[in-house]
Amino acid sequence: MHAPLLLLILLAALPALAQERAEMRLTLVLFAGGAWPESEAVAAAREAAAILDQCGVAAAPMKLLRADEGPAFRMYQTPRSRLLARKLRPHRPAIFFVDGTLQRPAYDAEAIGRGNSRTRPELADTVWIVRDARDPGVALAHELAHVLMDSGEHSDEPGNLMRDETAPQDTRLSEAQCARLRATGLANGLLH
Ligand SMILES: [Zn+2]
Repeated sequence: MHAPLLLLILLAALPALAQERAEMRLTLVLFAGGAWPESEAVAAAREAAAILDQCGVAAAPMKLLRADEGPAFRMYQTPRSRLLARKLRPHRPAIFFVDGTLQRPAYDAEAIGRGNSRTRPELADTVWIVRDARDPGVALAHELAHVLMDSGEHSDEPGNLMRDETAPQDTRLSEAQCARLRATGLANGLLH
């Protein structure tokens, strides 16, 4: 007699079952003598992880990796950063908290996915963020989303995390963006 009710409850639970949570294990690369205090780097990474939680992505405990390869490596620049990434081989996704960038144009943060790493494979699935980046937590969430989705696409939607210019109030991701983020992140071994 209670079977129909039970069935109803099970059906109501289906969407939740379909969106099983995925886990992201971030590596934070900090530099000996670098400009980023550990506490601020960790806080920015936690804020980014909290933003991505809306897609059913849970943050596993983050791993800190210390780089002590000399001051030159504290600046982001493709050739030297490739050398560093090849040497350190951090678990991905990895965030490098650099002092600044020598790349031009100079971005606050850059993401290298699979699609844009063919000429620099060592940098695949990494994010590089400079010390004076604005709203670093939101900037990191934006770049990590590029990496997890393996896409450089932006959105015009108000409030969306993937707007071209990041802003503190723009933190939402659409269902389609979350679906892509999870599917591609899992397929590329960046989510578990
Ligand atoms: Zn972007």
